[in-house]
Amino acid sequence: MVTTSKKIQLSSHTVKALKHNEQFSHSLIKNGSDIIVLVNEESIVTFVSPSITSILGYAPEEIVGCHVLVLVHPDDLDTVQWMLGEIGQSPGKSLSAEYRLCCKDGSWRWFEGSGTNLLHVPGIEAIVGNFRDVTERKVAPHSHWSEMSASEHFVQFYESEVFLLDSLSGFIDTGLSAGDACIVIATKAHRERLEERLKAKGLDLIAAHTRGEYIALDAVETLSKLMVDGLPEPQRFLEIIGSIIRQAGEGRLRVRAFGEMVALLWEEGNQSGAIHLEELWNDLARTHSFSLFCAYPMHGFGKAAHGAPFTEIGIHHTRVIPAESYNALATPDERLRAITQLQQKAESLHAEIMERKEAEKALRISETRYRRLFEAARDGVLILDPRTRKILDANPFMEELLGYPREKLIGKELFEIGLHKDEQANQDAFRKLQENHYIRYEDLPLKTKTGERREIEVVANLYEEEDKPVIQYNIRDISARKKLERQKDEFISMASHELKTPVTSLKGFLNLLQRRLTSHEDEKELHYLGRMNAQVHKLTKLINDLLDISKMQTGQLVYREEHFDLDALVQEIVENIQGTTQTHHLLLEGQTQAEAFGDRDRIGQVLINLLNNAIKYSPQASTVVVRVTKDHNNALVSVQDFGIGIAKEHQQKIFERFYQVTDPEERTYPGLGIGLYISLEIVKRHGGQIWMESKKGEGTTFHFTLPLFHEGKRQVSL
Ligand code: ADP
Repeated sequence: MVTTSKKIQLSSHTVKALKHNEQFSHSLIKNGSDIIVLVNEESIVTFVSPSITSILGYAPEEIVGCHVLVLVHPDDLDTVQWMLGEIGQSPGKSLSAEYRLCCKDGSWRWFEGSGTNLLHVPGIEAIVGNFRDVTERKVAPHSHWSEMSASEHFVQFYESEVFLLDSLSGFIDTGLSAGDACIVIATKAHRERLEERLKAKGLDLIAAHTRGEYIALDAVETLSKLMVDGLPEPQRFLEIIGSIIRQAGEGRLRVRAFGEMVALLWEEGNQSGAIHLEELWNDLARTHSFSLFCAYPMHGFGKAAHGAPFTEIGIHHTRVIPAESYNALATPDERLRAITQLQQKAESLHAEIMERKEAEKALRISETRYRRLFEAARDGVLILDPRTRKILDANPFMEELLGYPREKLIGKELFEIGLHKDEQANQDAFRKLQENHYIRYEDLPLKTKTGERREIEVVANLYEEEDKPVIQYNIRDISARKKLERQKDEFISMASHELKTPVTSLKGFLNLLQRRLTSHEDEKELHYLGRMNAQVHKLTKLINDLLDISKMQTGQLVYREEHFDLDALVQEIVENIQGTTQTHHLLLEGQTQAEAFGDRDRIGQVLINLLNNAIKYSPQASTVVVRVTKDHNNALVSVQDFGIGIAKEHQQKIFERFYQVTDPEERTYPGLGIGLYISLEIVKRHGGQIWMESKKGEGTTFHFTLPLFHEGKRQVSL
């Protein structure tokens, strides 16, 4: 664009005249249709000719004192800045370029601006700029096909076929006459009519074809060769179109191409395909030199201009040729507006291309990111088809976990690879997924290829991916964690067993001593022995609890199955516990007059736990209430205390194994956090429920239910 100016608007001769004949120079500047600007060394405007007012709308005073770049279009700034720099460095140097300046009303006009460095010329000492308005030429339709540069990519909008064919035949005729290679990829109808016109102009198309100068292809047929799944395939485009352009260009100065495939896709409504194809043409233009003529029927270009910024583009279609109605527009202003609108339409098409490119890039990035996560995850991931229940994809960790290569996993159902024990379990899982879109297994066995058993935690989701439902299984190998847990349980079990023997004999000797001292009526020693006995009792209970817990873990806790009188059991326990406390009064209310079924001692153990807790966690209170009631099927036992209570956030968790409320403001209470866990397990095994209500600082009530024994009713085996 920027070239050393051959026709300096203000020649050195004129400058001389300026210098020596002020009268003449004055009138030259005043009456000229160009804008003349003087700029000092700091790039500040020191003079502007009055013609600026009629062209751009400013009064000269508004511009004098401003930086010379103040009116330049942002996209042209680089060019003008570079030009100024070049001129500024060499006295006498002159350069010119075309760029846009801003009018006072905010619109832009094109100028051919030249600058000459006369900073060294006494009396002028300025860079002299001369601006000629070239807007009309710049945006007016191209009618001189011979002026077309070797790599123009322009777009022709048309309303009628005749108009298109006029234009197209002009383009091809000029090309063939100049010895250029011309490629026409058009519909059959357009090709035939074009050829008729060219022949009418006296062109010998057969000879041109033989020389390789005229190449005509059918747009529909060529397009079908390019398309894969509704989109043009880049490799095929390069192979077919790229090679035609390359061959045509061999030994010739220029190649002209007319392509109608984009318009065909656009008319079909395959916008995305059209945009892709535009993109491929533009990509090709980066490596091959040819001028490209695109045509869009106005009716097919119904999509309103895209909101994307127009300034950004404009580089792809170097020129816009308006449809025929343009010629009917009378005033230059109307024509200018029409051209601008068309330019915007063309640009909006490219804005869409750019946007799509961006979106595709973002998608590629996110796809790569997810793929990497999928590949690198230390969780197994399986993608399944909900309809066939077959595996579509598996990540490397899944291969590692199962010992099968990915290809062996794909197409298999889950039960076939050792996940879900059989086909029925597999189907159940899929049914649940269809219902809830989510399932979770805390603890599922998995058999690997070598037959090794692993324990896994599974989370499965059903979701839509590009309108298709898919199921994703995330599988975590928890074998190591489970092994550790088992080792811990085994240790607890072994330790409590080992503790039990010495404690039992300790208890025996204590009883012996107690009997002996009683006969000696030794009060003091008896008192100490009593306290020792109570501690040994506590120790025994702890050891028994620990043993129970290990047995529960391994399912080895055996329950007796018998009918028993619930009221009698409750009464007995209340009395026993009352005997162990001097601080609290235990109040028993109500009775069931019913028989319960199950392990009497274990149910007693639940009540003992609840009563001990009620006493332990209500040090300031003096009463604990035990209530017994029933409805038709169940007995309900409640233990109410007036103690410290349990804050809401802990209420869900206190039944968990080893859970204890740790509250910094409270004193610590002895215990292991296993009493409630054992109670819950026992009540659950009996088919009952256990729960609590509590308010911090006011007390707690624990309730548990037990199914009642009815004559003739089948009891569930424990
Ligand atoms: P432990 O009493 O041995 O700590 P438990 O399993 O019996 O274990 O109880 C778990 C936790 O629940 C206790 O640590 C305590 O914080 C809370 N808790 C149980 N019963 C009561 C109660 N009656 N009042 C207040 N807190 C209680």
